[in-house]
Amino acid sequence: MIEIKDKEDCCGCYACYNICPKQCITMKTDNEGFWYPNIDKNECINCNLCEKVCPIITKPKNSLYEEKSYAVFNKNEKIRLESSSGGIFSLLAEYVINNHGSVYGAVFDEDFNVKHIKINKLEDIKLLRGSKYVQSKIEDVFKFIKSDLKNDKLVLFTGTPCQVAGLQSFLQEKYNNLILMDIVCHGVPSPLVWQQYINELKQNYKQDIKNVYFRDKSTGWKTYSIKFLFDKDEYKNIGLKDIYMKGFLNDIYLRPSCYNCNFKGIERISDITVADFWGIENILPKMDDDKGTSLIVVHSEKGKQLFDELSEKMILNEVNLNEAIKYNPSMIKSVKYNEKRNSFFVELNSGKELTDLIRKYTKIRFEKRVKNKIKSIINKLIR
Ligand SMILES: Cc1cc2nc3c(=O)[nH]c(=O)nc-3n(C[C@H](O)[C@H](O)[C@H](O)COP(=O)(O)OP(=O)(O)OC[C@H]3O[C@@H](n4cnc5c(N)ncnc54)[C@H](O)[C@@H]3O)c2cc1C
Ligand code: SF4
Ligand code: SF4
Ligand code: SF4
Repeated sequence: MIEIKDKEDCCGCYACYNICPKQCITMKTDNEGFWYPNIDKNECINCNLCEKVCPIITKPKNSLYEEKSYAVFNKNEKIRLESSSGGIFSLLAEYVINNHGSVYGAVFDEDFNVKHIKINKLEDIKLLRGSKYVQSKIEDVFKFIKSDLKNDKLVLFTGTPCQVAGLQSFLQEKYNNLILMDIVCHGVPSPLVWQQYINELKQNYKQDIKNVYFRDKSTGWKTYSIKFLFDKDEYKNIGLKDIYMKGFLNDIYLRPSCYNCNFKGIERISDITVADFWGIENILPKMDDDKGTSLIVVHSEKGKQLFDELSEKMILNEVNLNEAIKYNPSMIKSVKYNEKRNSFFVELNSGKELTDLIRKYTKIRFEKRVKNKIKSIINKLIR
């Protein structure tokens, strides 16, 4: 039976919850806003299926295919501009839906919580399009996917590498009709912090939110903005200046498992990995018009066949992955633990205002970096 002793050892993928034959696992949210399994011991029959499918206890095997990597963008400029990088997810989703399949990915619900859903209409792809920088809830989705697969439907599942690993572990066998797409993942921020942030914005604007875009490209792909549409007004700020994004990128409120992620590396469980092609202006300037370029890594024969079939809808060039990773270390290594993380959550739970807290904790990190830099310059001068 699963027992979480150290929060780092649970990525919140919901595989245990989905497999339990007695349905005696509930996912409980802690005081940081992240969910963990909780077992009703009176109902548990000690079958150990939950441990067997936990991708942290037993990591599913990566494919042995020799990886191929590309710089890519969708020829459809409208879709590309609505997507976070080159709009490749939308091409895969269109293909699957046109072949009567189902696509599973992350959307906002009516309260702007992020969760995974199934779609099978082309007009719904826009709901999944675009990165949402909050952990997405899987809930019962793995069971729905299994049922679709058993009914011979083509299925595309997209998510973080740990969600893809959780799904593959839950399924316990390989399905030819399943396409797995993961992203290069910096880490996922706390849903509690996200909800507090949008509540503070709603109070400031005294209006309800109609839509949120984490990766608005009107200021460019590289200098993307976060944008909120309210009933009447709009709030837009460069990603690096917005207070929520600052806290995210300073790693103050990521899920504990993200600081020691088990799913980093070039080899993956997925068929295709999608990322922002940061550094494209140095590696392949002709593919950079600041409208968004994806780095695509193909990990399986199935992924390659699909990629080749869609290639006429893309502008693409094969690239050297080791060169690309130099600009995108999240592919292979976890972010460093932020020493102030605990104090941040203690203060947040004591009722302090979120934006003040993020300002306080990102300032401390910046000051520390400046101090370290000065120290190293002095040391060099003394030597
Ligand atoms: C939390 C997070 C961290 C990321 N960190 C990095 C990084 O460090 N480096 C990097 O190069 N790229 C990162 N990405 C990936 C990148 O932002 C793009 O999602 C990717 O390049 C795909 O872009 P696209 O244009 O093909 O499609 P898009 O339409 O932009 O892709 C959307 C896809 O992402 C999925 N998705 C969106 N939000 C979530 C979520 N919260 N959880 C699970 N799946 C989600 C959707 O289901 C959809 O399939 C991150 C994405 C997320 C969500
Ligand atoms: S051991 Fe079996 S019954 Fe008990 S919680 Fe795990 S999956 Fe459920
Ligand atoms: S299966 Fe997923 S949610 Fe369950 S304990 Fe393991 S990592 Fe956590
Ligand atoms: S960093 Fe790792 S553990 Fe965290 S969400 Fe991404 S894949 Fe999962």
